[in-house]
Amino acid sequence: MTDAEKAAEAAQQDVLSGQVAYPGVAIGPAAILEERLGFADILHEEEVDTEVELKNLESALEKTCIQTIFLEKRVAERLSENDAAIFHTHLMILEDRSFIRKLQKEISNGHSAAYALEKNVADYIEAFRKMDDPYLRERASDMEDIGRRILANLVDDAPEQTLHLKHPGILVARQILPSDMATLDNEQILGIITEVGEQNSHAVIMAKSMGIPAIVAVRGALKHIAPEDSLIIDANTGRIYINPLDTVKDEYKRLQLDQTRELCRLDEYREQPAMTSDGERIILRANIGLISDINVAKRFGAEGVGLYRTEFPYMARSDFPSRNDQYELYSRVVKEFEGQPVTIRTLDIGGDKALPYFSPPKEDNPFMGWRSVRVSLDNRDIFRTQIEAILMAGIHGPVKLLFPMISSMDEIRDCLEVVKEARETLGREGLDCPDDVPVGVMIEVPAAVRLVPRLANLVDFFALGTNDLVQYLLAADRNNPLVSKHYDPLHPAVLQVLDEVTDTALSMGKGVSLCGEMATDPLILLLLIGMGLREFSMPAPFIPRTKAFLKGVSMETAHRRYTEIRKLDSSIQIRKHLAEALEDVELGH
Ligand code: PEP
Ligand code: MG
Repeated sequence: MTDAEKAAEAAQQDVLSGQVAYPGVAIGPAAILEERLGFADILHEEEVDTEVELKNLESALEKTCIQTIFLEKRVAERLSENDAAIFHTHLMILEDRSFIRKLQKEISNGHSAAYALEKNVADYIEAFRKMDDPYLRERASDMEDIGRRILANLVDDAPEQTLHLKHPGILVARQILPSDMATLDNEQILGIITEVGEQNSHAVIMAKSMGIPAIVAVRGALKHIAPEDSLIIDANTGRIYINPLDTVKDEYKRLQLDQTRELCRLDEYREQPAMTSDGERIILRANIGLISDINVAKRFGAEGVGLYRTEFPYMARSDFPSRNDQYELYSRVVKEFEGQPVTIRTLDIGGDKALPYFSPPKEDNPFMGWRSVRVSLDNRDIFRTQIEAILMAGIHGPVKLLFPMISSMDEIRDCLEVVKEARETLGREGLDCPDDVPVGVMIEVPAAVRLVPRLANLVDFFALGTNDLVQYLLAADRNNPLVSKHYDPLHPAVLQVLDEVTDTALSMGKGVSLCGEMATDPLILLLLIGMGLREFSMPAPFIPRTKAFLKGVSMETAHRRYTEIRKLDSSIQIRKHLAEALEDVELGH
C-alpha cells in the first residue's frame, strides 16, 4: 500500500471502487455527464400526421448523418483515423435501408417518428445486449448513441446534448458514448469514471489512446458523487476518493507530481533500446489485439509485435472474414510497424473467448476442452484461409506465424501440413508470399514443455504463454477469483519450467520470448532475465517503465538473485527475497 492509500484508508474516506481501464492518478472536481435526452418523456402521440412524421424522420436522419461525418472528421483530427472508424460504422447504420424501412413502416402504421425510433432502436439494443461476446455487447452503446442523436434532431426543443467542461475536471457518467468522447474537449478531461462499461468499450479505447486515467464499472458513482465534488481517481488500484481530507489530497498530489515527473522521464525511453545497466540488450515488443492498439504500441516505443491476438478482429464481425479482409487487416499492422517483426497468432478461440457466429459446444470444462488450435485443426478450411492471409501479409514486412495451445507433436505436424497446403494454394493462384516466414509455437500446456527438444527440430521459435501455462501447471483457473491465490507465477514449479524451456530453446539455437502478463511485474522480470530470457511481449503502456527499471539492473544482480531464489521452495519466500532485491535496484547497486 502506498503512503497515499494508507492515509486515505486511515481517514476512512468515502471510497468507491471499480475496474482500472487506464492507469494513473487524477485529482479534480467532478463534472457529471447528465443522462442525455431520453425517449420516455416525449412519446405523446396525439394527432400524428403520417406525412409530417415521415418528413421529420427524413430530415432528422439527414442532419444526423451530417453531424456524424463532422464527428468522424473531428475524432480523426484529434485522435486517429482508427478511433474515428466507429463513426463510419454509425454512418453505415444511419444509411442502412432496412433500418430506415423499419422506421418508415412504423410511422405508416400511425405512429410518430419518435415512437418508431424508440421501438426500433430498443430492439437493436436488446439484441446486442443479449450477445455473449463482450465486444458485440458493447455495440449496444453505439446503437443507443445513434438513437439519441437522431432523437435530438427530431425534437425541436431538445436540450443541449453535450457537456462543455467549464474547467478541467473528472468526468463522471453512467456511460460515455463514442460521440461524447468526440465532442468533449479532451484537454479538460483529467479522468473518467463510468458506472457501466467493459474494457472493450470505445470510450475506454479512446481514453487509452489519449492516456486519460479511467475507472469503469463503478457501482453507485452517480448516487454518491455530486457536481463539483472534489475527487481523486487512483487508477492504479481502482479506487475513487470523494471529498477527501486535505492530508489525503496532499499525499496524492505528491504522488501525481512524482508520476508526472516519471512520465516525462519515461518519455525519454521511447526511442532508446531496452538495456540493463551493464549493456545487456533486452527486446520489448507489444501484445496487440485491436487496430487501435497499434498507435499505443508505437507511442510507447514497442519494437514490433510479439503477440497479435487475431481473435479480436474476428469477434467484431458477424461472419468469418474473407481471406482478403484478413490480408488487408494483417498487412495494415505489418506496414504500420515499418520493418519491425510482427508475430501473428492463429485463432485462439474457446475457453473464455467466443465468436458470436461460431457457437461452441456446451462443455463442462471449456479451458480443457475444444479450444484454440484444436478448433482450427477441426476446421481446416478456415484455418488454411487464415494462414494464407498471414503468409500474404509477409510481403509487407517481417511476419512470424505462431500456433497457440500446441500439446503434441502430431498437432504441430498437422499445422505445418496446413502451412504447406496454404503455400501450395497461393502458388496455384499466382499470389506472392515470402519463403522464410518463421513458424513458432506457444508453450502453454505442460506437455509442450516436455516436448520442447523435439518441437525445436520442427519450428523456429517459442513463445511462453504464461497466462495459460500457469493455470495448467498449477490447476488454477486464470479467471476464477476463488483460486486466485493458487494462480501464482512465482511458484517454484513455474520458474523451473520457464528455465527449462528457455535453456533448451537457446541451446538449440531457437528464439524464445515470454508474452504472458507476468513480464510486466519488475520483480518477476528480474528473475526472468536472470534465467536467460531476453525477449518479452507485453501490453505497450508497460514498456517505458520496464525500460526504466532495466536501466537500474545489472545482469550480475539478476543472475545472483535468480541463483539465490532457486534454492527456495515457496513463492512466499521468493517474493520476500525479491522485495529485498528490488531495494538493491532502486538504490542502484
Ligand atoms: C498466454 O496464455 O499467456 C497468452 C499470452 O495468450 P492468451 O492470454 O491470449 O491466452
Ligand atoms: Mg494463452
